[in-house]
Amino acid sequence: MALAHTLGFPRIGRNRELKQALEAYWQGRLDEAGLRALGRSLRAAHWQTQRDAGIELLPVGDFAWYDQVLAHSLLVGAIPRRFRPADGPVTLDTLFAMARGTGTRALEMTKWFDTNYHYLVPEFSADQQFRLSWEQLFEEVAEARQLGYRVKPVLLGPLTYLWLGKARGDAFDRLELLERLLPVYGEILGRLAALGVEWVQIDEPILVLDLPQAWKSAFEQAYHLLQQAPLKKLLATYFGALDDNLGLAANLPVDGLHIDLVRAPQQLAGVLDRLPPYKVLSLGVVNGRNVWRCDLEQALQPLRMAAERFAERLWVAPSCSLLHSPLDLAQEDGLDAELKGWLAFAVQKCREVALLARAVEEPGAPEVRVALAESRSAQETRRQSPRIHKPAVQARLQGLAASDWQRPTAFSERIGQQHAQLELPAFPTTTIGSFPQTADIRQARQAFRRGELDEAGYRAAMQAQIRRAVEVQERLGLDVLVHGEAERNDMVEYFAEQLDGYAFTRFGWVQSYGSRCVKPALIVGDIQRPRPMTVEWIRYAQGLTGKPMKGMLTGPVTMLMWSFPREDLPREQQALQLALAIRDEVQDLEAAGIRIVQIDEAAFREGLPLRQAERGHYLDWAVRAFRLCSAGVRDETQIHTHMCYSEFNDLIEAIAALDADVLSIEASRSQMELLEAFEAFAYPGEIGPGIYDIHSPRVPDREEMLALLHQAAERIPPERLWVNPDCGLKTRGWAETEAALANMVAAAQALRASR
Ligand code: GLN
Ligand code: ZN
Repeated sequence: MALAHTLGFPRIGRNRELKQALEAYWQGRLDEAGLRALGRSLRAAHWQTQRDAGIELLPVGDFAWYDQVLAHSLLVGAIPRRFRPADGPVTLDTLFAMARGTGTRALEMTKWFDTNYHYLVPEFSADQQFRLSWEQLFEEVAEARQLGYRVKPVLLGPLTYLWLGKARGDAFDRLELLERLLPVYGEILGRLAALGVEWVQIDEPILVLDLPQAWKSAFEQAYHLLQQAPLKKLLATYFGALDDNLGLAANLPVDGLHIDLVRAPQQLAGVLDRLPPYKVLSLGVVNGRNVWRCDLEQALQPLRMAAERFAERLWVAPSCSLLHSPLDLAQEDGLDAELKGWLAFAVQKCREVALLARAVEEPGAPEVRVALAESRSAQETRRQSPRIHKPAVQARLQGLAASDWQRPTAFSERIGQQHAQLELPAFPTTTIGSFPQTADIRQARQAFRRGELDEAGYRAAMQAQIRRAVEVQERLGLDVLVHGEAERNDMVEYFAEQLDGYAFTRFGWVQSYGSRCVKPALIVGDIQRPRPMTVEWIRYAQGLTGKPMKGMLTGPVTMLMWSFPREDLPREQQALQLALAIRDEVQDLEAAGIRIVQIDEAAFREGLPLRQAERGHYLDWAVRAFRLCSAGVRDETQIHTHMCYSEFNDLIEAIAALDADVLSIEASRSQMELLEAFEAFAYPGEIGPGIYDIHSPRVPDREEMLALLHQAAERIPPERLWVNPDCGLKTRGWAETEAALANMVAAAQALRASR
């Protein structure tokens, strides 16, 4: 009998109850008992939902107050001293302090593999000790068992946990901590066994990465030690193929292995070959990271193959935790029936998993036959729908020529023409695009959406915001202005809403970090731009000033990375379709007299594949997509791009290949050190390294920014240096924004005077 299980379930709740409760607790509107009660009711509801959908073995330990990696740090007692003065008790407030930095610096946050979920980076010191310090997992196991559920606790594996962490203070190899960490794992497993747990799921997703030899060896050492624990272990891998780690993963002394066949279907044959048949094989055949209905027939093939060898030791699951998919499609009341028929959220994915398990067992069962027929017809309508396949878009892509990716003149020549026509001073000052998104902007947008404000009223309100932004920038003496992006709710959604081929959900929330959720748009079909998207606003803004006004767009890679992509078309094709739409917008802006166009690629780095060997291919198409949108302009039109992070070492070549004229990056917190890489590469373009951190309300003074500029000028030829903040200012207030920009302009002036 194939067993249906899940690796984890969304914890946020149908109406984002967890978010509301967390925020209420932080603001003192809800007490701890209230928060804990809410957590209990969410967990109970989620177990029941999965059970009702046919999941036989339910995850526990996937619920977290803020983040599962943070919860794990508490569990094993990796709590930096600053959060626990005098070795006091570990409480819920310790957890929130680590997450949010109340009173002290929070843990760092970073992306969970290649998802848009963020985890809190464990911090280890050289003298790190581990100790079981948090009871939540055991309490939840007891809770689930009391409710009568058969559960499988989910535990982050010791190697992945150490890999995800960071050494603080004196440099040391965090692998050295393994020996100290393992006894705590032994203790945890012992406690779980004592609670009557039969199976535990140990997540080791780093097995899909390129691992140093020392880490591979450490796996063997670690799991041999954990072997003694008196319960069965399912080693879970996801987000890619095991590849060179296959032999290692297959032969560790554990009782089962989960693999991701959605991201890496090709690994099945190798796994069938190498995994000892007395182990459990769990196949992740339903995509846990996207919103599309599973093609049941296709998913059944690997299951049938595996069933021959593994028989009752075959398990069926989503590819990864369902944390990364929205909760329940049934809530969506605004989607048409056809589109809804193509989708599946977490609840529906559980049903798919259960159905597949049943189909392996009894292919002829009536409910299996019905489900397969439905699945087949959903796939079929999708394959044929004109809503998805647009011959004009495909023909245009087919017809592209090399010249479409290539600006006609080299940077070294065209930059002179740009300088001549823009007439900017040395060290030109600018901002990244957005100005404060104040309450009145949000109110106007809401009123417009609800129909309480008509289009003319809305336009007038936004134009007033643009006038304000332009007036401030002129008064402060900035050189290249922006319109401020008041009309944009979000840098992706704003464009997605205006493109054909996108769809939107009402409740498709996915946790991003803590109480923050995002609701990515869905790329449903071929992308087309029916009409200009930004030209009216930018033209209006340019009409208010004699200074150059930047046209502001979101790039194709970022549009793709922050949406739910299609599964029936390679990512690269989707990026190129987006690029064509943006290209048309760039062209229209140029025709409207806009001399500078900025195409933001905030998520360029995020698309990097986890494996080194796959990076070249990604960078190749990502660069091509950017060039496709930007290369159609005249020599004197200046193309800017912006990326908001500061690790560039492995990306400089690709970024140079974008062939943008000006690049702005986040740099203030890294003290301009990142410019070394640009210098070493002899990066040809102009650069604006951010000289103040927009994530904080602090207003840096002129001297601080001037010092950063002097450092930058040592690495970047002065004639190629721009002056700007790290990123957009939409989360800031006006007062601090004006003060900081005034100091920034003063710093640029001081630099000019000193040269
Ligand atoms: N132009 C955008 C803004 O200023 C860029 C945001 C981003 O890079 N994340 O808000
Ligand atoms: Zn940014």
